[in-house]
Amino acid sequence: MEVKRVSTGSKPLDTLLEGGIERGVISNFYGESGSGKTNACIQISAEVASSHGNVAYIDTEASFSAERFAQIASEAELENVFVKDVTDFQQQKGAINSLQAMEQDLELVVVDSMVSLYRLKVDGGNASEVNNELSEQLSKLSEIARNQDIPVVITNQVYTSFDDDELELVGSDVPKYWSKCLIQLSESQDSRVAEIAKHRSLEEGQKVGFEITDNGLQRNDSGVF
Ligand code: ATP
Ligand code: MG
Repeated sequence: MEVKRVSTGSKPLDTLLEGGIERGVISNFYGESGSGKTNACIQISAEVASSHGNVAYIDTEASFSAERFAQIASEAELENVFVKDVTDFQQQKGAINSLQAMEQDLELVVVDSMVSLYRLKVDGGNASEVNNELSEQLSKLSEIARNQDIPVVITNQVYTSFDDDELELVGSDVPKYWSKCLIQLSESQDSRVAEIAKHRSLEEGQKVGFEITDNGLQRNDSGVF
């Protein structure tokens, strides 16, 4: 069977993922603030744009930086990236729903972050309603990945659970269910680490160290995890 991976443009991530992210499914990069989620999104977009693929990039935190993109790729390749800024959860829904009507053939869809506007909307009593909405948006993204045979990349914030001190994904089971690939980005004293938390065909728990440089997520020379 043909292995349908798309290079992330990052050597350590491609090594970890044995070639890159999968077509047809949602890959979710999750981790604390500053762990490298947006850098990963920009780097993957730059890689796809460099090979003339169109990228739809839904930006919920105004964190896409053309300057950062140009450091990693070249400014000319920005013309292949269609950035849509959204500022509330309804707009995010609209942006996701309008992906299928785009006239460009897409090679990648990015939503950075999937849950920041969701988190703003949850306020106690309405959790199940907002969870349903999140699930519908993820279902739509999953359908696009499958029907267009492209990778979808989302990012996810985390929080520490009061009960057991464990790191939890914002949105909890909903994004976990819809993401066929979960990659945790974290930072220890010595190094940044990417770890496979869930994958359809790769061993969970595998890790790779990396550093963030002008060129994106790169191998860390110290060899420390
Ligand atoms: P948030 O949850 O707040 O959105 P994030 O996981 O998206 O965080 P990023 O924005 O991807 O995190 O990563 C920020 C980190 O990347 C910072 O530590 C910043 O110093 C580092 N960084 C950004 N550009 C460069 C660069 N050119 N060289 C080295 N490090 C960089
Ligand atoms: Mg970010």
